[in-house]
Amino acid sequence: MTKEASVSTDAPNGGLIADAPAPKDAPLTEDAPTGAPQGGPLRAVVVILDGAAGDALEVYGGRTTLEAASTPHLDALAREGVVGLVRNVPSGMEPSSNVACTSIVGYDPADYPIGRGALELAALGVPLEDGQVALRVNLVNVTPAGVMHSYSTDNISSEDGHALGDELKAALDDDTFTLYKGTGFRLYLVVTGHPALMETTFSAAHDIADMPVAEHPPRGPEAQLVRDFEARAKEVLAASPVNRRRIAQGLLPATDVSVFWPGVRPQGMEDFSGRFGRQAALNSGVDLLNGIAQLAGIRRCHFAGVTDGPDNDYAAQGEGALAMLGENDVAFVHVESPDAEGHDGNVEGKRRAIEAIDREIVGRLRSWAAERPLRILALPDHPTPLATKRHTSDPVPFVMAGPGIAPNAAQRLTEAEARSSGLLVDPGHRLLSTLLVHTPLSSRACRGILGRASGRPQAEGPPDLPLDTACPRIPRRGPE
Ligand SMILES: [Zn+2]
Repeated sequence: MTKEASVSTDAPNGGLIADAPAPKDAPLTEDAPTGAPQGGPLRAVVVILDGAAGDALEVYGGRTTLEAASTPHLDALAREGVVGLVRNVPSGMEPSSNVACTSIVGYDPADYPIGRGALELAALGVPLEDGQVALRVNLVNVTPAGVMHSYSTDNISSEDGHALGDELKAALDDDTFTLYKGTGFRLYLVVTGHPALMETTFSAAHDIADMPVAEHPPRGPEAQLVRDFEARAKEVLAASPVNRRRIAQGLLPATDVSVFWPGVRPQGMEDFSGRFGRQAALNSGVDLLNGIAQLAGIRRCHFAGVTDGPDNDYAAQGEGALAMLGENDVAFVHVESPDAEGHDGNVEGKRRAIEAIDREIVGRLRSWAAERPLRILALPDHPTPLATKRHTSDPVPFVMAGPGIAPNAAQRLTEAEARSSGLLVDPGHRLLSTLLVHTPLSSRACRGILGRASGRPQAEGPPDLPLDTACPRIPRRGPE
Protein backbone atom coordinates (compact mmCIF):
# COMPACT_ATOMS: atom_id res chain seq x y z
CA MET A 1 0.00 0.00 0.00
CA THR A 2 1.42 3.35 -0.95
CA LYS A 3 0.92 6.71 0.60
CA GLU A 4 -0.80 7.86 -2.58
CA ALA A 5 -3.43 5.23 -1.90
CA SER A 6 -4.71 7.24 1.05
CA VAL A 7 -7.23 9.84 -0.02
CA SER A 8 -7.03 12.65 2.46
CA THR A 9 -10.45 14.14 2.30
CA ASP A 10 -13.05 14.94 4.86
CA ALA A 11 -16.32 13.22 4.32
CA PRO A 12 -18.98 15.38 2.69
CA ASN A 13 -21.24 14.84 5.69
CA GLY A 14 -18.75 16.33 8.08
CA GLY A 15 -16.91 13.16 8.82
CA LEU A 16 -19.87 11.13 9.93
CA ILE A 17 -19.26 7.52 9.17
CA ALA A 18 -22.33 5.57 8.34
CA ASP A 19 -23.48 3.39 11.18
CA ALA A 20 -23.78 -0.37 11.02
CA PRO A 21 -25.18 -1.98 9.06
CA ALA A 22 -23.44 -0.54 6.06
CA PRO A 23 -25.67 0.37 3.15
CA LYS A 24 -26.38 -2.76 1.21
CA ASP A 25 -26.30 -0.87 -2.06
CA ALA A 26 -22.68 0.10 -1.61
CA PRO A 27 -20.83 -3.18 -1.99
CA LEU A 28 -17.08 -3.18 -1.68
CA THR A 29 -16.91 -4.40 -5.22
CA GLU A 30 -17.83 -1.02 -6.71
CA ASP A 31 -16.35 2.42 -6.83
CA ALA A 32 -12.90 1.89 -5.43
CA PRO A 33 -11.93 5.37 -4.24
CA THR A 34 -9.81 7.52 -6.52
CA GLY A 35 -6.17 6.87 -5.94
CA ALA A 36 -6.65 3.27 -4.92
CA PRO A 37 -4.36 0.78 -6.56
CA GLN A 38 -6.06 -0.58 -9.63
CA GLY A 39 -6.46 -4.28 -10.16
CA GLY A 40 -9.75 -5.44 -8.74
CA PRO A 41 -12.57 -4.73 -6.35
CA LEU A 42 -11.92 -3.15 -2.96
CA ARG A 43 -11.48 -5.83 -0.34
CA ALA A 44 -11.06 -5.67 3.42
CA VAL A 45 -9.11 -7.84 5.82
CA VAL A 46 -9.19 -7.94 9.62
CA VAL A 47 -6.19 -9.37 11.46
CA ILE A 48 -6.98 -10.22 15.07
CA LEU A 49 -3.88 -10.47 17.27
CA ASP A 50 -5.58 -12.23 20.17
CA GLY A 51 -4.51 -10.80 23.53
CA ALA A 52 -1.62 -8.81 22.04
CA ALA A 53 -2.23 -5.65 24.08
CA GLY A 54 -0.89 -5.39 27.60
CA ASP A 55 0.89 -3.33 30.19
CA ALA A 56 4.37 -1.88 30.56
CA LEU A 57 7.00 -4.51 31.38
CA GLU A 58 10.15 -3.99 33.41
CA VAL A 59 12.05 -6.45 31.25
CA TYR A 60 11.35 -4.18 28.26
CA GLY A 61 12.37 -1.02 30.09
CA GLY A 62 8.80 0.02 30.77
CA ARG A 63 7.56 -0.73 27.27
CA THR A 64 4.63 -3.00 26.41
CA THR A 65 5.07 -6.08 24.24
CA LEU A 66 3.59 -4.25 21.25
CA GLU A 67 6.13 -1.48 21.82
CA ALA A 68 9.05 -3.86 22.27
CA ALA A 69 8.21 -6.01 19.25
CA SER A 70 9.78 -5.28 15.88
CA THR A 71 6.77 -4.79 13.61
CA PRO A 72 7.82 -2.95 10.43
CA HIS A 73 4.62 -3.82 8.57
CA LEU A 74 2.23 -2.75 11.30
CA ASP A 75 4.36 0.39 11.71
CA ALA A 76 3.90 1.16 8.02
CA LEU A 77 0.14 0.69 8.31
CA ALA A 78 0.13 3.04 11.32
CA ARG A 79 1.95 5.75 9.35
CA GLU A 80 -0.31 5.31 6.32
CA GLY A 81 -3.56 4.99 8.24
CA VAL A 82 -5.42 5.65 11.45
CA VAL A 83 -4.51 4.43 14.93
CA GLY A 84 -7.05 4.67 17.70
CA LEU A 85 -8.68 2.83 20.57
CA VAL A 86 -11.67 0.54 20.29
CA ARG A 87 -13.81 -0.83 23.11
CA ASN A 88 -14.50 -4.42 22.13
CA VAL A 89 -15.80 -5.38 25.57
CA PRO A 90 -18.91 -3.39 26.53
CA SER A 91 -18.83 -2.28 30.15
CA GLY A 92 -20.33 -4.85 32.44
CA MET A 93 -19.53 -7.76 30.12
CA GLU A 94 -16.89 -10.41 30.68
CA PRO A 95 -13.59 -9.63 28.88
CA SER A 96 -13.56 -12.91 26.99
CA SER A 97 -12.63 -13.52 23.38
CA ASN A 98 -16.20 -14.44 22.51
CA VAL A 99 -17.47 -11.03 23.60
CA ALA A 100 -14.56 -9.13 22.05
CA CYS A 101 -14.48 -11.08 18.78
CA THR A 102 -18.26 -10.90 18.35
CA SER A 103 -17.75 -7.14 18.42
CA ILE A 104 -14.86 -7.28 15.95
CA VAL A 105 -16.91 -9.17 13.38
CA GLY A 106 -19.47 -6.36 13.59
CA TYR A 107 -22.14 -7.57 16.05
CA ASP A 108 -22.98 -5.95 19.37
CA PRO A 109 -22.07 -8.55 22.03
CA ALA A 110 -24.84 -7.12 24.22
CA ASP A 111 -27.33 -8.30 21.57
CA TYR A 112 -25.76 -11.76 21.35
CA PRO A 113 -24.81 -12.77 24.91
CA ILE A 114 -23.87 -16.27 23.86
CA GLY A 115 -22.09 -18.33 26.47
CA ARG A 116 -18.74 -19.36 25.20
CA GLY A 117 -19.29 -23.05 25.80
CA ALA A 118 -22.33 -22.93 23.51
CA LEU A 119 -20.47 -20.88 20.92
CA GLU A 120 -17.56 -23.28 20.74
CA LEU A 121 -19.93 -26.22 20.58
CA ALA A 122 -21.61 -24.58 17.59
CA ALA A 123 -18.24 -24.74 15.84
CA LEU A 124 -18.38 -28.50 16.21
CA GLY A 125 -21.84 -28.53 14.66
CA VAL A 126 -23.47 -29.90 17.84
CA PRO A 127 -27.01 -28.54 18.25
CA LEU A 128 -28.20 -27.67 21.76
CA GLU A 129 -31.77 -28.24 22.89
CA ASP A 130 -33.77 -25.98 25.16
CA GLY A 131 -32.90 -26.71 28.77
CA GLN A 132 -29.44 -27.98 27.95
CA VAL A 133 -26.36 -26.11 29.10
CA ALA A 134 -23.01 -26.41 27.32
CA LEU A 135 -19.78 -25.81 29.23
CA ARG A 136 -16.11 -25.70 28.33
CA VAL A 137 -14.00 -28.45 29.89
CA ASN A 138 -10.21 -28.04 29.94
CA LEU A 139 -7.81 -30.94 30.34
CA VAL A 140 -5.48 -29.46 32.95
CA ASN A 141 -2.48 -30.37 35.06
CA VAL A 142 -2.77 -29.73 38.77
CA THR A 143 0.20 -30.33 41.08
CA PRO A 144 -0.05 -32.81 43.97
CA ALA A 145 -0.28 -29.73 46.21
CA GLY A 146 -3.41 -28.67 44.35
CA VAL A 147 -1.99 -25.77 42.32
CA MET A 148 -3.12 -25.12 38.71
CA HIS A 149 0.14 -25.86 36.92
CA SER A 150 -1.07 -25.88 33.30
CA TYR A 151 -4.54 -24.89 32.09
CA SER A 152 -3.79 -26.64 28.78
CA THR A 153 -1.71 -29.67 29.88
CA ASP A 154 1.20 -28.00 28.06
CA ASN A 155 -0.93 -27.43 24.96
CA ILE A 156 -1.68 -31.13 24.67
CA SER A 157 -2.09 -32.35 21.09
CA SER A 158 -5.56 -32.94 19.71
CA GLU A 159 -4.60 -36.59 19.26
CA ASP A 160 -3.93 -37.09 22.97
CA GLY A 161 -6.75 -34.75 23.96
CA HIS A 162 -9.18 -36.86 21.95
CA ALA A 163 -7.79 -40.10 23.39
CA LEU A 164 -8.30 -38.79 26.92
CA GLY A 165 -11.71 -37.47 25.87
CA ASP A 166 -12.68 -40.99 24.76
CA GLU A 167 -11.66 -42.41 28.14
CA LEU A 168 -13.68 -39.76 29.97
CA LYS A 169 -16.70 -40.23 27.70
CA ALA A 170 -16.70 -44.00 28.25
CA ALA A 171 -16.76 -43.49 32.01
CA LEU A 172 -18.89 -40.38 32.45
CA ASP A 173 -21.44 -40.01 29.62
CA ASP A 174 -24.98 -40.69 30.83
CA ASP A 175 -28.47 -39.15 30.65
CA THR A 176 -27.23 -35.97 32.34
CA PHE A 177 -23.70 -35.54 30.99
CA THR A 178 -22.45 -35.77 27.40
CA LEU A 179 -18.84 -34.93 26.56
CA TYR A 180 -17.66 -33.70 23.15
CA LYS A 181 -14.08 -33.43 21.95
CA GLY A 182 -12.71 -30.13 20.68
CA THR A 183 -9.25 -28.91 19.70
CA GLY A 184 -6.21 -29.70 21.83
CA PHE A 185 -6.99 -29.47 25.54
CA ARG A 186 -10.62 -28.47 24.94
CA LEU A 187 -13.60 -30.70 25.66
CA TYR A 188 -17.24 -29.65 25.94
CA LEU A 189 -19.85 -30.88 28.37
CA VAL A 190 -23.55 -30.77 27.60
CA VAL A 191 -25.64 -31.04 30.76
CA THR A 192 -29.33 -31.92 30.49
CA GLY A 193 -31.86 -30.97 33.14
CA HIS A 194 -29.83 -28.46 35.16
CA PRO A 195 -30.57 -25.01 33.70
CA ALA A 196 -29.48 -23.32 36.95
CA LEU A 197 -25.91 -23.93 35.78
CA MET A 198 -26.37 -20.60 34.02
CA GLU A 199 -26.49 -18.95 37.45
CA THR A 200 -23.43 -20.82 38.69
CA THR A 201 -20.16 -18.87 38.64
CA PHE A 202 -16.85 -20.41 37.63
CA SER A 203 -13.17 -19.55 37.53
CA ALA A 204 -11.74 -20.17 34.06
CA ALA A 205 -8.74 -22.49 34.26
CA HIS A 206 -6.40 -19.98 32.60
CA ASP A 207 -7.42 -17.31 35.12
CA ILE A 208 -6.15 -19.31 38.10
CA ALA A 209 -2.70 -20.21 36.76
CA ASP A 210 -0.31 -21.04 39.63
CA MET A 211 -3.12 -20.64 42.16
CA PRO A 212 -4.61 -23.25 44.53
CA VAL A 213 -7.57 -24.74 42.68
CA ALA A 214 -9.53 -25.37 45.89
CA GLU A 215 -9.66 -21.64 46.54
CA HIS A 216 -11.51 -21.04 43.26
CA PRO A 217 -14.37 -23.56 43.22
CA PRO A 218 -17.60 -23.14 41.27
CA ARG A 219 -20.19 -21.29 43.33
CA GLY A 220 -23.95 -21.13 43.11
CA PRO A 221 -26.93 -23.40 42.60
CA GLU A 222 -25.31 -26.28 40.68
CA ALA A 223 -21.77 -25.99 42.06
CA GLN A 224 -21.93 -29.41 43.74
CA LEU A 225 -22.99 -31.09 40.48
CA VAL A 226 -19.89 -29.69 38.77
CA ARG A 227 -17.57 -30.51 41.66
CA ASP A 228 -18.79 -34.12 41.66
CA PHE A 229 -18.26 -34.37 37.90
CA GLU A 230 -14.73 -32.99 38.22
CA ALA A 231 -13.96 -35.45 41.04
CA ARG A 232 -15.13 -38.42 38.95
CA ALA A 233 -13.09 -37.20 35.99
CA LYS A 234 -10.00 -36.96 38.21
CA GLU A 235 -10.36 -40.66 39.09
CA VAL A 236 -10.64 -41.60 35.40
CA LEU A 237 -7.54 -39.56 34.53
CA ALA A 238 -5.56 -41.06 37.43
CA ALA A 239 -6.10 -44.52 35.92
CA SER A 240 -5.68 -43.40 32.29
CA PRO A 241 -3.41 -45.46 30.00
CA VAL A 242 -2.99 -42.35 27.83
CA ASN A 243 -1.62 -40.44 30.82
CA ARG A 244 0.69 -43.35 31.73
CA ARG A 245 2.10 -43.29 28.20
CA ARG A 246 2.52 -39.51 28.32
CA ILE A 247 4.44 -39.72 31.61
CA ALA A 248 6.69 -42.41 30.12
CA GLN A 249 7.36 -40.07 27.19
CA GLY A 250 8.26 -37.25 29.54
CA LEU A 251 5.05 -35.38 28.75
CA LEU A 252 2.78 -33.68 31.27
CA PRO A 253 -0.27 -35.79 32.22
CA ALA A 254 -3.78 -34.34 32.38
CA THR A 255 -4.57 -34.83 36.06
CA ASP A 256 -7.91 -33.02 36.16
CA VAL A 257 -10.68 -31.42 34.18
CA SER A 258 -11.72 -27.86 34.81
CA VAL A 259 -15.31 -26.90 33.94
CA PHE A 260 -16.41 -23.30 33.21
CA TRP A 261 -18.14 -20.97 30.68
CA PRO A 262 -21.75 -22.19 30.70
CA GLY A 263 -23.92 -21.27 27.72
CA VAL A 264 -27.33 -22.04 26.28
CA ARG A 265 -28.62 -22.41 22.72
CA PRO A 266 -27.56 -19.35 20.73
CA GLN A 267 -30.31 -17.19 19.33
CA GLY A 268 -30.08 -16.70 15.60
CA MET A 269 -27.55 -14.10 14.52
CA GLU A 270 -28.28 -12.04 11.46
CA ASP A 271 -26.36 -13.36 8.50
CA PHE A 272 -23.16 -11.38 7.80
CA SER A 273 -23.91 -10.98 4.11
CA GLY A 274 -27.42 -9.75 4.92
CA ARG A 275 -26.16 -7.35 7.56
CA PHE A 276 -23.24 -5.87 5.63
CA GLY A 277 -23.91 -6.77 2.01
CA ARG A 278 -20.54 -8.50 1.83
CA GLN A 279 -19.35 -12.07 1.57
CA ALA A 280 -16.93 -12.86 4.40
CA ALA A 281 -14.57 -15.70 5.27
CA LEU A 282 -12.66 -16.48 8.45
CA ASN A 283 -9.65 -18.53 9.45
CA SER A 284 -8.72 -19.37 13.02
CA GLY A 285 -7.11 -22.18 14.95
CA VAL A 286 -9.67 -22.01 17.76
CA ASP A 287 -13.18 -23.41 17.98
CA LEU A 288 -14.62 -20.22 19.41
CA LEU A 289 -13.96 -18.09 16.34
CA ASN A 290 -15.25 -20.81 14.07
CA GLY A 291 -18.39 -20.89 16.20
CA ILE A 292 -18.94 -17.15 15.76
CA ALA A 293 -18.40 -17.58 12.01
CA GLN A 294 -20.81 -20.48 11.87
CA LEU A 295 -23.53 -18.53 13.67
CA ALA A 296 -22.97 -15.39 11.57
CA GLY A 297 -22.94 -17.11 8.20
CA ILE A 298 -19.26 -16.37 7.61
CA ARG A 299 -17.41 -19.00 5.58
CA ARG A 300 -15.01 -21.00 7.70
CA CYS A 301 -11.71 -21.69 5.97
CA HIS A 302 -9.20 -24.16 7.36
CA PHE A 303 -5.54 -24.12 6.38
CA ALA A 304 -3.10 -26.86 7.32
CA GLY A 305 -0.66 -25.74 10.01
CA VAL A 306 -2.89 -23.06 11.57
CA THR A 307 -3.07 -23.79 15.30
CA ASP A 308 -3.93 -22.08 18.58
CA GLY A 309 -0.38 -22.05 19.92
CA PRO A 310 3.21 -21.03 19.32
CA ASP A 311 3.59 -23.79 16.73
CA ASN A 312 1.21 -21.89 14.44
CA ASP A 313 2.34 -21.86 10.80
CA TYR A 314 2.13 -18.10 10.30
CA ALA A 315 3.24 -18.27 6.68
CA ALA A 316 0.47 -20.77 5.90
CA GLN A 317 -2.02 -18.50 7.62
CA GLY A 318 -0.74 -15.50 5.65
CA GLU A 319 -1.11 -17.41 2.38
CA GLY A 320 -4.55 -18.49 3.54
CA ALA A 321 -5.52 -14.88 4.10
CA LEU A 322 -4.62 -14.06 0.49
CA ALA A 323 -6.59 -17.06 -0.71
CA MET A 324 -9.65 -15.91 1.24
CA LEU A 325 -9.32 -12.41 -0.24
CA GLY A 326 -9.25 -13.91 -3.70
CA GLU A 327 -12.80 -15.17 -3.28
CA ASN A 328 -14.43 -12.97 -0.62
CA ASP A 329 -15.07 -9.28 0.03
CA VAL A 330 -13.89 -9.55 3.63
CA ALA A 331 -11.40 -11.88 5.30
CA PHE A 332 -10.97 -12.35 9.04
CA VAL A 333 -7.64 -13.78 10.17
CA HIS A 334 -7.55 -14.68 13.85
CA VAL A 335 -4.22 -15.59 15.49
CA GLU A 336 -4.43 -17.07 18.98
CA SER A 337 -0.74 -17.36 19.88
CA PRO A 338 -0.13 -13.95 21.56
CA ASP A 339 -2.99 -14.70 23.97
CA ALA A 340 -1.75 -18.22 24.67
CA GLU A 341 1.72 -16.85 25.45
CA GLY A 342 0.17 -14.14 27.61
CA HIS A 343 -1.69 -16.73 29.68
CA ASP A 344 1.54 -18.67 30.02
CA GLY A 345 3.38 -15.54 31.16
CA ASN A 346 5.90 -16.09 28.35
CA VAL A 347 7.24 -12.59 27.69
CA GLU A 348 9.54 -13.45 24.81
CA GLY A 349 7.04 -15.88 23.31
CA LYS A 350 4.39 -13.19 23.14
CA ARG A 351 6.82 -10.80 21.46
CA ARG A 352 7.87 -13.47 18.95
CA ALA A 353 4.22 -14.24 18.17
CA ILE A 354 3.48 -10.58 17.42
CA GLU A 355 6.59 -10.34 15.25
CA ALA A 356 5.65 -13.47 13.32
CA ILE A 357 2.16 -12.10 12.63
CA ASP A 358 3.72 -8.88 11.38
CA ARG A 359 6.27 -10.61 9.17
CA GLU A 360 4.30 -13.51 7.74
CA ILE A 361 0.71 -12.26 7.70
CA VAL A 362 0.67 -8.45 7.66
CA GLY A 363 3.71 -8.45 5.36
CA ARG A 364 1.94 -10.66 2.83
CA LEU A 365 -1.20 -8.54 3.03
CA ARG A 366 0.79 -5.37 2.35
CA SER A 367 2.42 -6.94 -0.69
CA TRP A 368 -1.02 -8.00 -1.93
CA ALA A 369 -2.33 -4.48 -1.28
CA ALA A 370 0.44 -2.95 -3.37
CA GLU A 371 -1.25 -4.49 -6.42
CA ARG A 372 -4.92 -4.38 -5.45
CA PRO A 373 -7.19 -2.09 -3.41
CA LEU A 374 -7.32 -3.46 0.13
CA ARG A 375 -8.27 -1.99 3.48
CA ILE A 376 -6.46 -3.58 6.41
CA LEU A 377 -7.63 -3.49 10.03
CA ALA A 378 -5.34 -5.00 12.66
CA LEU A 379 -6.11 -5.15 16.36
CA PRO A 380 -6.10 -7.30 19.49
CA ASP A 381 -9.48 -8.44 20.78
CA HIS A 382 -8.62 -7.70 24.43
CA PRO A 383 -5.44 -7.15 26.45
CA THR A 384 -3.82 -10.17 28.11
CA PRO A 385 -1.20 -8.48 30.32
CA LEU A 386 1.76 -10.71 31.16
CA ALA A 387 1.85 -9.58 34.78
CA THR A 388 -1.59 -11.01 35.59
CA LYS A 389 -1.87 -13.56 32.73
CA ARG A 390 -5.58 -12.80 32.41
CA HIS A 391 -7.80 -10.75 30.14
CA THR A 392 -8.84 -7.21 30.94
CA SER A 393 -11.73 -5.24 29.46
CA ASP A 394 -9.70 -2.13 28.60
CA PRO A 395 -10.09 -0.67 25.11
CA VAL A 396 -7.40 -1.90 22.72
CA PRO A 397 -5.37 -0.15 20.02
CA PHE A 398 -6.32 -0.65 16.38
CA VAL A 399 -4.78 0.38 13.09
CA MET A 400 -6.78 0.78 9.90
CA ALA A 401 -5.23 1.65 6.56
CA GLY A 402 -6.00 1.50 2.88
CA PRO A 403 -7.79 3.35 0.10
CA GLY A 404 -9.81 6.31 1.39
CA ILE A 405 -8.25 6.29 4.86
CA ALA A 406 -6.20 9.37 5.69
CA PRO A 407 -3.37 9.17 8.23
CA ASN A 408 -3.72 10.62 11.74
CA ALA A 409 -0.02 11.09 12.41
CA ALA A 410 0.44 7.77 14.20
CA GLN A 411 3.73 5.93 13.95
CA ARG A 412 3.02 2.54 15.51
CA LEU A 413 0.24 0.25 16.70
CA THR A 414 0.78 0.67 20.43
CA GLU A 415 -1.37 1.22 23.50
CA ALA A 416 0.18 4.65 24.18
CA GLU A 417 -0.21 5.93 20.62
CA ALA A 418 -3.80 4.77 20.52
CA ARG A 419 -4.56 6.49 23.84
CA SER A 420 -2.98 9.74 22.73
CA SER A 421 -4.85 9.72 19.39
CA GLY A 422 -8.05 10.96 21.03
CA LEU A 423 -9.94 8.43 18.92
CA LEU A 424 -12.14 5.91 20.73
CA VAL A 425 -14.58 3.71 18.82
CA ASP A 426 -17.29 2.82 21.33
CA PRO A 427 -19.29 0.68 20.92
CA GLY A 428 -16.54 -1.24 19.21
CA HIS A 429 -18.75 -3.24 16.85
CA ARG A 430 -19.08 -0.10 14.72
CA LEU A 431 -15.43 -0.33 13.74
CA LEU A 432 -16.20 -3.01 11.18
CA SER A 433 -18.84 -0.96 9.40
CA THR A 434 -16.31 1.88 9.32
CA LEU A 435 -13.90 -0.47 7.58
CA LEU A 436 -16.54 -1.54 5.07
CA VAL A 437 -18.26 1.72 4.15
CA HIS A 438 -17.03 3.87 1.35
CA THR A 439 -17.10 7.15 3.19
CA PRO A 440 -13.50 8.35 3.35
CA LEU A 441 -12.21 8.05 6.91
CA SER A 442 -10.09 10.87 8.25
CA SER A 443 -8.87 11.54 11.73
CA ARG A 444 -11.60 14.15 12.04
CA ALA A 445 -14.09 11.42 11.32
CA CYS A 446 -13.73 10.17 14.86
CA ARG A 447 -16.63 12.42 15.78
CA GLY A 448 -18.82 10.27 13.66
CA ILE A 449 -17.82 6.87 14.94
CA LEU A 450 -17.54 7.83 18.58
CA GLY A 451 -20.13 6.52 20.90
CA ARG A 452 -20.23 7.71 24.45
CA ALA A 453 -16.74 7.48 25.88
CA SER A 454 -18.14 5.98 29.06
CA GLY A 455 -21.19 4.12 30.24
CA ARG A 456 -23.26 1.66 28.31
CA PRO A 457 -22.82 1.65 24.57
CA GLN A 458 -25.71 3.03 22.62
CA ALA A 459 -28.10 1.02 20.58
CA GLU A 460 -27.83 1.12 16.82
CA GLY A 461 -28.32 4.60 15.47
CA PRO A 462 -26.28 7.66 14.75
CA PRO A 463 -24.16 8.83 17.67
CA ASP A 464 -25.84 11.71 19.44
CA LEU A 465 -22.67 13.75 19.75
CA PRO A 466 -22.97 17.09 17.98
CA LEU A 467 -20.65 17.18 15.02
CA ASP A 468 -18.70 20.14 16.31
CA THR A 469 -17.80 18.38 19.54
CA ALA A 470 -14.08 17.86 19.80
CA CYS A 471 -12.93 14.28 20.08
CA PRO A 472 -12.72 13.54 23.79
CA ARG A 473 -9.37 12.56 25.20
CA ILE A 474 -9.01 9.12 26.62
CA PRO A 475 -8.11 9.34 30.31
CA ARG A 476 -4.66 7.98 30.97
CA ARG A 477 -4.34 5.16 33.43
CA GLY A 478 -1.57 5.29 36.03
CA PRO A 479 2.08 5.16 35.05
CA GLU A 480 2.69 3.90 31.51
ZN1 LIG B 1 -7.33 -15.70 26.34
